[in-house]
Amino acid sequence: MPTYDYKCEKCGHEFEDMLPISRRNEPTKVPCTMRILDANQDPQYFDCDGEVKMKVAVPGFAYDNISSPGHKKSTPNWMKDKLKEIKRQTYKSTMNIPE
Ligand SMILES: [Zn+2]
Repeated sequence: MPTYDYKCEKCGHEFEDMLPISRRNEPTKVPCTMRILDANQDPQYFDCDGEVKMKVAVPGFAYDNISSPGHKKSTPNWMKDKLKEIKRQTYKSTMNIPE
C-alpha cells in the first residue's frame, strides 16, 4: 500500500498515511485535528481546523531518463571500465559490456 504525505495549510503540521490509491484523498476532507495552544484564548487549547492538502510526491530521478533529443544515450567510459573490471574479477562471467 502506498504512503501519502499530507500537510496542514494553517499550522504546517505534516503527517503521512498508508492508504489504498482510491482513498488517498480522504485525509484532505477532514480538517486538521492538531491541538493549538493560544494563551490568549479560553480554553487555551483548540483544534487547528486548518485545510489539509496532499503533498505531491517527486518522482525519483532515474539514470535512464538522462537523454535529450538529438543525443543518443550512451554508457560513460568510466562505467564501461568499471564493468570490464568487474567482469575480469568474476569467474566465467557472461556479462555483456555495452559499447
Ligand atoms: Zn493544522
